[in-house]
Amino acid sequence: MARYTDSVCRLCRREGTKLFLKGEKCFSAKCAVSKRPTPPGQHGQARQRKPSEYGLQLREKQKARRAYGLLEGQFYRTYERASNMKGVTGENLLSLLERRLDNVVYRLGFAQTRREARQLTTHGHFTVNGQRVDIPSYLVKTGDVIEVREKSRASVKFKRLLGEDAPVVNLPKWLTRDKNTLQGTVAAMPARDDIDFPVEEHLIVELYSK
Ligand code: SF4
Repeated sequence: MARYTDSVCRLCRREGTKLFLKGEKCFSAKCAVSKRPTPPGQHGQARQRKPSEYGLQLREKQKARRAYGLLEGQFYRTYERASNMKGVTGENLLSLLERRLDNVVYRLGFAQTRREARQLTTHGHFTVNGQRVDIPSYLVKTGDVIEVREKSRASVKFKRLLGEDAPVVNLPKWLTRDKNTLQGTVAAMPARDDIDFPVEEHLIVELYSK
């Protein structure tokens, strides 16, 4: 499958905001957005023109797509699904993106980034309600229990999550996790205010509705 292999910091600089694509490093003073807040590339330092309406819509879509680590086709299919659901399309879209298993793994603190969560998921390290699931786009629902597989718990990576130097996890309110276990539960469906980065989803809907 095609995947993005260039520097992820370029993506944050392009969107002009921190997308937290490098885990703990994103909180250090070395963050590229703090050090070089201009867009990447040869003309990044040039005076920026006022973006067009289309430009604003495109940037908002790219920001959301890059934050969740999806390719264009996957993102568009998620939008189509959101637009066929009842309710507000933009909010449905964000909810579908949040409910992806790779995002849930990241939000529960089992991985430092969504990209790492995706890899760990495809390698089969997690179960949902006791069944091994290795599909990153799997959508969780209320009551689902996500757990690190028994076989995987002995690895240094997962042991660290329970040790004294375990990283602090800022759990969204729709997920619960006992910090002494490698198990999390979906307590509710994600709401609009659970999205952890600034995004104007109505611009994405306007872009795709043209
Ligand atoms: Fe790089 Fe993280 Fe800073 Fe983004 S937030 S520029 S990925 S260090």
